[in-house]
Amino acid sequence: MAYFADLILPLPLDKRFTYSLSDAEAEFICEGMRLAVQFGKNRIYTGIVAQIHQNPPQVYEAKPIHQILDEKPLVSLHQLKFWSWISHYYLCSEGEVMRAALPGAFLLESESIVKLRKNFDFPEEKLNDDEFLVVEALQRQSSMKIQEIQELLDRKSVLPIINLLVEKEVVELNQEIYEQYKPKEVRFVRLRSEFEAEAAMHQLLDELSNAPKQRKILLTYFSLTANSRKPLKAKTLCDKSGATSAVLKSMVKKGIFEEYYEQTDRVGFKGETFNKEIIFNKYQQQAFDQIKSHFAEEQVCLLHGVTSSGKTEIYIRLIEDVLKTGKQALYLLPEIALTTQLIKRLQDYLGDKVLVYHSRYSLNERVEVYKHVLSNSEKGKIIIGARSCIFLPFQDLGLIVVDEEHETTFKQFDPAPRYHARDAAVVLAAQFKASILLGSATPSLESYFNADHNKYALVELNRRYGEVLMPDMEVVDIKTAHRKKKMTGHFSERLIEEIKESLEEEEQVILFQNRRGFSPILECNTCGHSPQCPNCDVSLTYHSHNNQLRCHYCGYHIAMQQKCMACGSDEISTKGFGTEQVETELRALFPDARIARMDQDTTRGKHSYEKIITAFENFETDILVGTQMLTKGLDFRKVNLVGIMNADNLLNFPDFRAHERSFQLMQQVAGRSGRTKKRGKVLIQTYNPYHRIIQQVSTGNFTEMYREQLEERYQYKYPPYFRLIRLTVKSRDFSKTNDAAAWLATALEKVFERYVLGPEFPPVARIRNEYYKNILIKIPQKQSLGKTKAMVHRILSSFGTIAAFRSVRVIINVDPQ
Ligand code: ADP
Ligand code: ZN
Ligand code: ZN
Repeated sequence: MAYFADLILPLPLDKRFTYSLSDAEAEFICEGMRLAVQFGKNRIYTGIVAQIHQNPPQVYEAKPIHQILDEKPLVSLHQLKFWSWISHYYLCSEGEVMRAALPGAFLLESESIVKLRKNFDFPEEKLNDDEFLVVEALQRQSSMKIQEIQELLDRKSVLPIINLLVEKEVVELNQEIYEQYKPKEVRFVRLRSEFEAEAAMHQLLDELSNAPKQRKILLTYFSLTANSRKPLKAKTLCDKSGATSAVLKSMVKKGIFEEYYEQTDRVGFKGETFNKEIIFNKYQQQAFDQIKSHFAEEQVCLLHGVTSSGKTEIYIRLIEDVLKTGKQALYLLPEIALTTQLIKRLQDYLGDKVLVYHSRYSLNERVEVYKHVLSNSEKGKIIIGARSCIFLPFQDLGLIVVDEEHETTFKQFDPAPRYHARDAAVVLAAQFKASILLGSATPSLESYFNADHNKYALVELNRRYGEVLMPDMEVVDIKTAHRKKKMTGHFSERLIEEIKESLEEEEQVILFQNRRGFSPILECNTCGHSPQCPNCDVSLTYHSHNNQLRCHYCGYHIAMQQKCMACGSDEISTKGFGTEQVETELRALFPDARIARMDQDTTRGKHSYEKIITAFENFETDILVGTQMLTKGLDFRKVNLVGIMNADNLLNFPDFRAHERSFQLMQQVAGRSGRTKKRGKVLIQTYNPYHRIIQQVSTGNFTEMYREQLEERYQYKYPPYFRLIRLTVKSRDFSKTNDAAAWLATALEKVFERYVLGPEFPPVARIRNEYYKNILIKIPQKQSLGKTKAMVHRILSSFGTIAAFRSVRVIINVDPQ
């Protein structure tokens, strides 16, 4: 009976690929193992066995496999199921999911290796100079890589030469696979067992009386191991006895000591465990009890708790409870919130069971975390990390916490799979019948909507911990301030006063300026109006090259205006200023203050982000100017003033989520103020003091914001009422991009009719010499998601068969953010 294995290859292929197995292989191999297989002409890939069966493929002959790479499955059946869900939901290949899911070190690379054929009988004198050089080199070393041959011949294109040598049967090419991952090993020493008896030990000491250095090592060994049963590192022994490693080596040779190696973990917990205990206040206790009782019946619970209400402590207690059952827990948070500060806080309570999985970690470190989780070891019980953590090989997941669940960085933008980690985590939890808690001070409309419609349980926590009051919010009308000449640059008189006062009282100040402050938006200096798109709820953006105001979403555009459309004033300007300008002005206003800036430019270095935060924590900085980076999960003790430089920048961002995001951002930054006893202050500078969102932020009225935004989403057909799929067509050829997008849009309109928007050039229509064009599909609630996607898939398949569009790529983004 013949056996076959269907493999997932790390490529954007629609299908799994089938290989044939010998009986012995079929007996050994199981699902989730890695195999090295040939795919294409000369390429070797690592594939994951997805299924073993006895049905030969219909359209091609199955090739045998090349090599088995694992003794045990590296990927669990849970993962295979999860990958399959991701690939179906987000319309990408399983191979793309596999690439995202496995640490790169597991995807063995293939490199062509050139070897001399044994007993080749091609006359050497007939080789040309280059060929001769290669053959000569190969006689000295058994094999060479292509790159080494390039260096030898000092030229790039060596493949034709190699090809000829292959034809002449002088050399052969084969592929060599190697493991990149090497666990870090540490050398330990121990005394050979024959010397452990008293008598033998004394005899040995006597024998060494003429070798003082060796004797010293032995005595040090005794003293170090007297009170500790821990393994002794060779390095420690040398250091403590002041001996060189050569002396120790000679004792190993003599058979006094023996050496052994053990793998150590790079990803270790280095601090001490304090085993602190959390004592809840009564509101935390209430929330905790409610969550627990919801979890008895429901899977998903949303915790809406104001900033500084002590949500983190609730997460920790939930995790502790799960640990007691022996299950694993996952704590997901957005990358920027993954600070040393937070990790330390968690480790204080949970100790060495916490592993951090982080894209900033090296491949090896990620491999180690992966293996701990796979083996369900004690060390891998609690995983903390950003979105890619959902791909770890959980064995027995009991709880997922998604902190700051409203954060859009949970969505992977590029490359595929373009998944949303929060949404995928809900599916993952269901697979394990685990509980999942989504937590935020400012939940996403989607999640709150789900709670509102009883899809998720909802728990609210409205008090800050320690009877601290919510900060006092003040809106500063900079339109009037400008008119009354009460502005110094971008600083209102009020803001300057408040900063001055904080500095005098030796308190700290945070000034927030949106990173996206640079996108040019037309704004009236008199009334603050900025032109909006009639079809979408967004501001138009100024495009100087054709002097137009455009909508990024539906393509609506008008000529640049000379006068304000609302009040007729001709004092209009394009607005956009950033953190750097704020810092410069601030230095002029407060020459004695210690000022730091935190944005993408100042945090590029490896530890610069940590350095800025630590300096601020240690009161080495008085004023911190920054972007959204400083909104996340930071717990500063002495900040009593937060200034939002310009709220309108946020509100006017051309996106249907702009208002929701403005609310979230402003609430989050405001939340950094006054986290201890003293009541904090927040100043919001704006041209639109009566804007609904500004009002809702200043009164902290989440529910009203939610209701109003939801109404707009309903009217303009956006999530959570409509789902979105965005197709982005891209190619290096401008007219091909146009034609392809038009073809696709027409095909889609035949099926989805008015729910297809575009094609439309994105604001940046050319990136790295590629042209982009977007098509947006809106999916009404009643329309089947599965069928819609199947249809999109079918249309894309026929698109793929059109020869003229071969160089055109289509990027699919399901639930774009
Ligand atoms: P959130 O995550 O809701 O913004 P935090 O968990 O950061 O709030 O809590 C705010 C502050 O209150 C933190 O400094 C935290 O250490 C403290 N805190 C919260 N709950 C407790 C508790 N039960 N015992 C002691 N300190 C607490
Ligand atoms: Zn105006
Ligand atoms: Zn529009």
